[in-house]
Amino acid sequence: MTHPWSTHSLATELDTGIAAVREAGLLCRKVQSQIDRGALEKKDKSPVTVADFGSQALICNALVSRFGFEPIIGEEDSAALREIGNESLFSKVVEQVRILRPEANTDTICQWIDLGGCKEYSDRFWTLDPIDGTKGFLRGQQYAISLALLINGVIEVAVVGCPNLGPDLNGDRQDGTVFAAIRGAGVWQLPMTTEGQAKPVKVSPQTDTTLIRFCESVEAAHSSHGDAARIAEHLNIQAEPARLDSQAKYAVVCRGEAEAYLRLPRDGKYKEKIWDHAGGVLILTEAGGRVTDIRGNDLDFTRGYRLENNLGVIVTNGHMHDAVIKAILELGIGQF
Ligand code: AMP
Ligand code: MG
Repeated sequence: MTHPWSTHSLATELDTGIAAVREAGLLCRKVQSQIDRGALEKKDKSPVTVADFGSQALICNALVSRFGFEPIIGEEDSAALREIGNESLFSKVVEQVRILRPEANTDTICQWIDLGGCKEYSDRFWTLDPIDGTKGFLRGQQYAISLALLINGVIEVAVVGCPNLGPDLNGDRQDGTVFAAIRGAGVWQLPMTTEGQAKPVKVSPQTDTTLIRFCESVEAAHSSHGDAARIAEHLNIQAEPARLDSQAKYAVVCRGEAEAYLRLPRDGKYKEKIWDHAGGVLILTEAGGRVTDIRGNDLDFTRGYRLENNLGVIVTNGHMHDAVIKAILELGIGQF
């Protein structure tokens, strides 16, 4: 199938990224469908661990097969899998990866995972969150597989797969949605598991701040719900926030189902990780939106695996960005 980006110089990178994220999505869906309630009640996190490592192995393998060795700043490394006591976890990862890569063995799978173990900045690197929103994954809710290519510190290509996000946030999940972007060329959404037409995506045109809806993390530990409520009151926002896990929040703002995503720091110490944002930032900005930290500074992806120079993240459709940043300043949010 030819896509609108077919003639772009980074088309191979985007096509490879989409195929890799779709494949990882198949593995994640399979593992998520097998989660039993009993495991959840026992607070057994092993299903998400299996899917996390499996997803990273598949995507790193797809990238190295197409582009040779390139640095990949990923969330996982294989050390935990190799620890004594984790044998059964490891064998579940191998079993899942072999469904899609029958030739894989324990050593190759560890090597693939560790391709994503880079932590340092370089002129050209990929960043990968094999499962963003692990809590959402375990709850059977939203999670994302996020991959981005950065060249000279600028996000050039992004793929954000949302296996549980259908064409409408509150509608049928269908087979999920993948968002694909190339800087300057646009952003499109496609079905996650089937081929299909790439449809361009645009942020909401809403300019009246009182009429916006914002989204935030489900996990209060990841973003201050209290400060978000103070901003909502200050700006006279009527709608209740939408709470969802992962970079699906960027996706929802990107296609106009919400006007903002607030990620407000709980303390001055936590540094956001680049894999939690790079993919989301490009799909959002290509849809016409704006992303900064809570002080209005651009996110700086040149400092390694963390956003060392930033505090929190504010995502909007662009129209109310300045109003939100002003409210944060007036309310003294983020002054620790
Ligand atoms: P979310 O799905 O929006 O709740 O975000 C999930 C991400 O939050 C994970 O991928 C973690 O990297 C990240 N995270 C973990 N601890 C914190 C924290 N204290 N503040 C902000 N983000 C965090
Ligand atoms: Mg994450």
